[in-house]
Amino acid sequence: MKNEKAVVVFSGGQDSTTCLFWALKNFKEVEAVTFNYNQRHKLEIDVATSIAKELGVKHTVLDMSLLNQLAPNALTRDDIDIEEKDGELPTTFVDGRNLLFLSFAAVLAKQSGARHIITGVCETDFSGYPDCRDVFVKSLNVTLNLAMDYQFVIHTPLMWLNKAETWKLADELGALDFVRENTLTCYNGIIADGCGTCPACLLRKKGLEEYLTIRTEGGEHV
Ligand code: ZN
Repeated sequence: MKNEKAVVVFSGGQDSTTCLFWALKNFKEVEAVTFNYNQRHKLEIDVATSIAKELGVKHTVLDMSLLNQLAPNALTRDDIDIEEKDGELPTTFVDGRNLLFLSFAAVLAKQSGARHIITGVCETDFSGYPDCRDVFVKSLNVTLNLAMDYQFVIHTPLMWLNKAETWKLADELGALDFVRENTLTCYNGIIADGCGTCPACLLRKKGLEEYLTIRTEGGEHV
């Protein structure tokens, strides 16, 4: 893969930034694509843009505002609270979002001569998004190859990692501090450690604390 080109689906968050570092290590040329779907925090686009710039990666922002027209949700509408209730999909869920993102990323990738697509989706901290599952990604990979008569390879380096292991991967890639200080995961739009209380911050913080404890103690592997 070293002499090939890859496109990373990139939001400026912890997961996709770790994937971007992973891609930079594994591919000769890397591009990033960010989807603008009127996120509640426009800051997400700015964060993604500045990280891509800092890492010297070509960055494309695609307008996906139609997604909000189809599926109003807590990520794009101030009047819907972010909630996660047991047994229900979180209010941040948008039907088909990942399907659409990966499909558009594939069109872009083919145009720029890349066949590798990297996405930070993960089944471990599974919050019920069906199009983030491994079986879906594999199925879509086949479909995209047939749709465009092209040999795409979708990579999901985080698929089976928990949050602590994702921090460990960032550390192994020499990017732990960068990811800690520059990425935006918080639903309240606060960079780095975030607000500390929203579901995204709690998950990120728990994973980081877990990983740092293990790293300090040494020896034992996550
Ligand atoms: Zn937060």
